[in-house]
Amino acid sequence: MKFARLVLLTLFVVAVVIPVGFAQTMVVYPAGETTPVSTSDDAADDSCIWVHPEDGAKSLIIGTNKDAGLNVYTLEGDLLHSVAPGKEPNNVDIRHEVEIGLIEGDVVATAFRSDNTLGIFMVDPETGGLRDMVQSELKTDIDVYGMCLYRDLRDGSVYIIVNSKEGWVQQWKLLPDGPEHITAELVAEFNVGGQVEGCVADDELDVLYIGEEQLGIWRYRFPLEESAYTRRLVDVTGHGGHLVSDVEGLALWKTEDDRGYLIASSQGNDSFVVYRRDGDNDFVGRFTIEARGALGGCEETDGIAVCADALGPRYPNGLFVAQDGLNGSENQNFKLVSWKEIAAAFDPPLAVGGGIESR
Ligand code: CA
Ligand code: CA
Ligand code: CA
Ligand code: CA
Repeated sequence: MKFARLVLLTLFVVAVVIPVGFAQTMVVYPAGETTPVSTSDDAADDSCIWVHPEDGAKSLIIGTNKDAGLNVYTLEGDLLHSVAPGKEPNNVDIRHEVEIGLIEGDVVATAFRSDNTLGIFMVDPETGGLRDMVQSELKTDIDVYGMCLYRDLRDGSVYIIVNSKEGWVQQWKLLPDGPEHITAELVAEFNVGGQVEGCVADDELDVLYIGEEQLGIWRYRFPLEESAYTRRLVDVTGHGGHLVSDVEGLALWKTEDDRGYLIASSQGNDSFVVYRRDGDNDFVGRFTIEARGALGGCEETDGIAVCADALGPRYPNGLFVAQDGLNGSENQNFKLVSWKEIAAAFDPPLAVGGGIESR
């Protein structure tokens, strides 16, 4: 009797004392990495994944070197092209199969810290090149920092969401500028309150997630200006939360049938936190990317990107890309992890993709 009581008491104490923040951390390993960026120090930042329309294995990774331009890599990690030399693109994002006036295709956007302008490119599906679509400079009046794209599925319009370290968030609508160029117009602006950077929009749910680096992840709804009063915190840094500042990159893993997860880079403890995409974004778990063989792990990660598409035999259920802040004796690069491995590391396993999900 006494023993049974002791067991019950112990169970009770364990349940009460262990806070949610100590949930188990899964471990995964890179399956590949990109060529290191050309400049030293803190240079690589964010990435996005271009999914090839027919052959997933020919998909590409577009990564920023915030000191030197935009890089396009193959899934083997080889550098194919660099564009916007001398500009300082901090974050980058993509939407496939957009229509802006007469222009159709896959749009990649960024914001340049060198001159606080917006960059808009279309992917050439034959060469994987990035065609600059801007003919008249798109100057913002903020010190640009993070950015992401959002597509309003009601009318197909595409927006750049760009922010500043001072907490300003601006929404710019992409518009045709003649038959062959794209421009953008500021349509909404608000202030989050603290330093922000990482953001990601869920087009199907009309939601924008923004990381306030010291505080946590905010969930806003479109239209954004009205949402400033009804925003809510998905998770926080510190006591009761699962994040360790800075909150950095945010990304959405999603399938065509609307399953999915929100993932955040918890830079302060080199981990990645997974939440449900639906409902109240319940915490699912977290993982770290550790070294194996010749491939190092991921530390001090800024930007992340993820997709659920079948990208050839190495990434059959999707790909997770993380900037690696500490790449041994080499310059920073991006580590590539198979979603299949991330999904299997969880108990119960996470959902897996497998078709062309991003188009
Ligand atoms: Ca960094
Ligand atoms: Ca940051
Ligand atoms: Ca960053
Ligand atoms: Ca590393």
